[in-house]
Amino acid sequence: MATAYRMTPKRRFLAGILGGRVDRTPVGSVTSVVNMAQMDATGASFPDCHLDGRKMAQLAAGAHTILGYDAILAYASVSAEAAALGCEVDWGDRENMPVSLAPIWSDPEQVAIPADFLERTPIRAILDATRILRAQYGDQVAIVGKVMGPWTLAYHLHGIQDFLIETLTEPERVRGFLDALQEITVLFGRAQIEAGADLLCVADHATGDLISAAMYRDFLLPHHQQITQRLGCPTVLHICGNTLDRLDDICQSGFDCFHFDSCVDAQGATYRVAGRISLMGNVNNPQILLQGTPEEALAQARYAQQAGVRVVGPECAIPLGTPTENLRAIAQAATEPLPSTGD
Ligand SMILES: [Zn+2]
Repeated sequence: MATAYRMTPKRRFLAGILGGRVDRTPVGSVTSVVNMAQMDATGASFPDCHLDGRKMAQLAAGAHTILGYDAILAYASVSAEAAALGCEVDWGDRENMPVSLAPIWSDPEQVAIPADFLERTPIRAILDATRILRAQYGDQVAIVGKVMGPWTLAYHLHGIQDFLIETLTEPERVRGFLDALQEITVLFGRAQIEAGADLLCVADHATGDLISAAMYRDFLLPHHQQITQRLGCPTVLHICGNTLDRLDDICQSGFDCFHFDSCVDAQGATYRVAGRISLMGNVNNPQILLQGTPEEALAQARYAQQAGVRVVGPECAIPLGTPTENLRAIAQAATEPLPSTGD
């Protein structure tokens, strides 16, 4: 039976992440839900938004004002930290997300966080946008911060191929990188909380397509435990790809919620985690949201919702050409009551 009270989107989203009571299924994402239609509608567009906090906030707000989601995320790309640390970044255009081009550090000893890191343009833009969103929407809508975890930072700053090979040949070097890079995750995460984020997404792409579950457990899990302890705020881990074989370990990580990919079945995931962590996701991007119909998006969101996924939304950063009506269909699934179970 429906509860008699109505929650603000912020309380609903946070309750979903923390596994608490909700008036309806929360909807939203901790990765980008920006599409080109929102760029047109808000008058703020990629690539300018990546380096301008005011424009970034203007575009990001579309998640709530246009899509009807319960949360707003300022940081749409994955390249701000790498750019601020000195990597060359191609900032893309309206149709393409930024990409960092070449790694800069070959040894953990080289990892250095500049004293003005939080003031550097790509980082300051995210902090400015977070402050603006907090002031404009913070009493009603959940403001989401996002940081790259040490595994993803190693891909960008040391190079994905070298790093993955070294997990086999030079494990101590890998640990050295993770130790040093964790400081960037914590520093930037704390700054976003201070700027007004209600929760943080840690994106750390230790996916089953690239590393084994044993490697996740051995190398990264201890860092995730430290990061969640040090940040202290509500946290969501994002890893795309197949993660079914490491869900047990992720449940030990200290994250409140795991944002997962559609290649992991929603029923299989909720069965495996058995309430130890909240789940968010996992509507398919390339087939359903980009190329499918609103009916298909609604059906998959419903499937996730009925499986016990606590926050429904896209599986990962959506392709920029995704039709708005498919994204709105997810919100529709969340706002309709589930079929009565008779109690
Ligand atoms: Zn992803």
